Amino acid sequence: MFTLAIVGRPNVGKSTLFNRLLESRKAIVDDQSGVTRDRQYGIADWSGKTFNVVDTGGFVDNSDDLFEREIAKQVMIAIEEANALLFMTDAATGITDLDEEMVQLLRRSPKPVFLAVNKVDNHQRQLEATEFYSMGLENTFFISSMSGSGTGELLDAIVALIPDGDETVDPHEGLTKIAILGQPNVGKSSLLNALTGQERTIVSDIAGTTRDTIHTRYNLFQKDFVLIDTAGIRRKKKVDEDLEFYSVIRAIKAIDEADVCMIVLDAEKGIAAQDLNIYSLAARKGKAIVILVNKWDLVEKQTNTARDYEKELKQRLAPFNDVPIVFVSATEKIRIFKGIEVALEVNENRTKKISTSELNKVMLKAIESYHPPMVRGHLIKIKYMTQLPTRVPSFAFFTNFPDDIKTPYRNYLENQLRQQFNFTGVPVRIFFRKS
Ligand code: GDP
Ligand code: GDP
Repeated sequence: MFTLAIVGRPNVGKSTLFNRLLESRKAIVDDQSGVTRDRQYGIADWSGKTFNVVDTGGFVDNSDDLFEREIAKQVMIAIEEANALLFMTDAATGITDLDEEMVQLLRRSPKPVFLAVNKVDNHQRQLEATEFYSMGLENTFFISSMSGSGTGELLDAIVALIPDGDETVDPHEGLTKIAILGQPNVGKSSLLNALTGQERTIVSDIAGTTRDTIHTRYNLFQKDFVLIDTAGIRRKKKVDEDLEFYSVIRAIKAIDEADVCMIVLDAEKGIAAQDLNIYSLAARKGKAIVILVNKWDLVEKQTNTARDYEKELKQRLAPFNDVPIVFVSATEKIRIFKGIEVALEVNENRTKKISTSELNKVMLKAIESYHPPMVRGHLIKIKYMTQLPTRVPSFAFFTNFPDDIKTPYRNYLENQLRQQFNFTGVPVRIFFRKS
């Protein structure tokens, strides 16, 4: 998917714009289970085009004396990794030294750069803001992130760059693609090595649809699948490996290309905030998910250790926590193939199609035993339902008052779907439509 990176010094209004970009999406997003919005990245919709937005501001530690250097680094990475850049400045403060430094870097960008001069809230600002033309960037827009003025034109110009049907030809069409994701040092490479250690398992090695991920086809225990690896490439690069932004932008690409996201954790360290962000992004993108708790060999175990660990982890993942958790050790080669097997299973759940008759039989019974509560004195009736022909399991429930069904009842329906049909590891979407 097309990725737009927002760069700019602190306080110019990046996150304000970011939230605005994601707003159009909110209605759709809130319909899904397990959604938490974060300040760093999201999916924007405009004029029928969908794209990733990364707010680099979320990755800068403002208290750091070195933040200017950090920002410069992020600009370089954004140029390398994103499809287009949105450089944001502030009309209220005018051009600063840091703006000048950034534009030096951006002028050399082979990727399109949009300059958004923000906080142009009134006519006076409009006049003052013309000084930004001196930056010499071709695509200059004057906007107010707060009121939204000018942002429509900006978005029109950005989405004009996105080709229709932004999907590259896939040499592995039809095979399940599993992205291996996780923080540095959790054991992603070890896991890959453990798998490749098996003889004659690799069928082919094809660079991903972008040069940033490696797609390797495996044939293991009669199963044919593709692993998407971001860890290997990171190693070869000179750029600061631990830079969070760098791994995040890579992860977003891998998620886009995958059917299943395999999130690897270090058992001793547990789940990090960044993992939760990746998890929620994968869910929003409608991917199947499996969690591997690696380095399980290092954990001192008693009778219920795994069970307790799983329970605690699921609490962190809530509300969408119907996901399989597999305890593995990459170096000791414990249950690593189990991890793959479960990943293939969740993909089956994701592609599962339930016949309308079966669905109605089961779900009408569930509705019969627990009706939607009355709203403003009227009875809410759900008459029938059907699975939509989408890539992510989505269900339309036809009802007399689609707007009056509240989240708790929606959750009840989702839980029923999960219990009756097994959608473990898969985000499920539910829509209410007027019958
Ligand atoms: P970031 O650090 O670049 O992400 O900046 P923020 O989005 O946090 O915004 C910094 C400050 O500028 C906040 O107080 C915002 O309310 C304010 N701000 C953002 N956009 C506008 C705008 O269009 N006009 C005005 N007047 N203030 C804005
Ligand atoms: P990556 O950055 O996620 O690719 O992590 P690596 O595969 O490079 O592993 C980081 C470190 O953790 C290495 O020293 C590995 O040997 C070690 N490691 C990886 N998996 C395991 C495991 O299952 N058990 C133990 N004890 N160490 C592991």
